[in-house]
Amino acid sequence: MHDLNADLHCHSTVSDGTLSPTQLAERAKANGVALWALTDHDEIAGQHEALAAARALQLDYLCGVEISVTFADQTVHVVGLGVDPDDAALRAGLAHTRGGRSRRARAIGDSLAAVGIVGAYEGAEALADSPDMVTRTHFGRWLVATGVCRDTHEVFRNYLTPGKPGYVEQQWAALREAVGWIRGAGGLAVIAHPARYKYSANEEWALFEEFKVHGGRGVEVLTASHTPADVVRYADTAREYGLLASRGSDFHAPGESRVELGTLPALPAGLTPVWSELQPRIRRA
Ligand code: AMP
Ligand code: MN
Ligand code: MN
Ligand code: MN
Repeated sequence: MHDLNADLHCHSTVSDGTLSPTQLAERAKANGVALWALTDHDEIAGQHEALAAARALQLDYLCGVEISVTFADQTVHVVGLGVDPDDAALRAGLAHTRGGRSRRARAIGDSLAAVGIVGAYEGAEALADSPDMVTRTHFGRWLVATGVCRDTHEVFRNYLTPGKPGYVEQQWAALREAVGWIRGAGGLAVIAHPARYKYSANEEWALFEEFKVHGGRGVEVLTASHTPADVVRYADTAREYGLLASRGSDFHAPGESRVELGTLPALPAGLTPVWSELQPRIRRA
């Protein structure tokens, strides 16, 4: 159970990945994943395809989502695992969260145009599945494709982040709402990639405390953006707050993502994996 090859965080073309849910299922299977979840940003439109593909490949599956949240003036991602993709309140909450993306994307385009980079909105929109799902990743791919930046690392160092051209603040869902939608849909809420947030020690404490108060249950200990020191640190956080530990590559695209689907190491010893609490929610092949 502890060393199960679970990969519970990745993205398809439904959000900002470049592979379809079916292609991801095939890739997960080929890489030896034993339990998989597709977790597109603020959208569950890929869940039925992912589930059908997983079933055809005899791959155990958890329906998932990654919700954008604003907490203490910063963006936090909350992964929901084992959700019912047909739950009406979850669907409405996600639709509302996505709703502001189109206007924001135009504002990002305007902000880039102000520093002489023209056509970014149209370029990013053409790479996205729908105008409601234009993300900074799509802008980043366009900035690389047009030669403005050499790679995504350069993109997020010079653009699209606070204080840089192309950054537009966005009010996402409240933490209480996101956790509520996930729980209401039968799922388990997990704080995604905690080392990526730039919180003070007090703010981080408040994040985990409030998350628990609202019924949040897990934290990603293993994820592509965590260094070995981050893994140790958030393994401690999991024990300290009594949270379940999750593991997910956050895979977006071949050649772009640092960690290939299904290739993270095993969780550190002494942690309880999220999947130990998700057994009834697993869609068995
Ligand atoms: P958005 O939801 O539109 O703000 O876009 C967020 C997405 O941008 C994340 O899910 C990542 O895929 C991508 N992203 C954000 N920061 C970085 C970074 N420093 N390096 C690579 N990708 C990033
Ligand atoms: Mn993403
Ligand atoms: Mn994320
Ligand atoms: Mn993600």
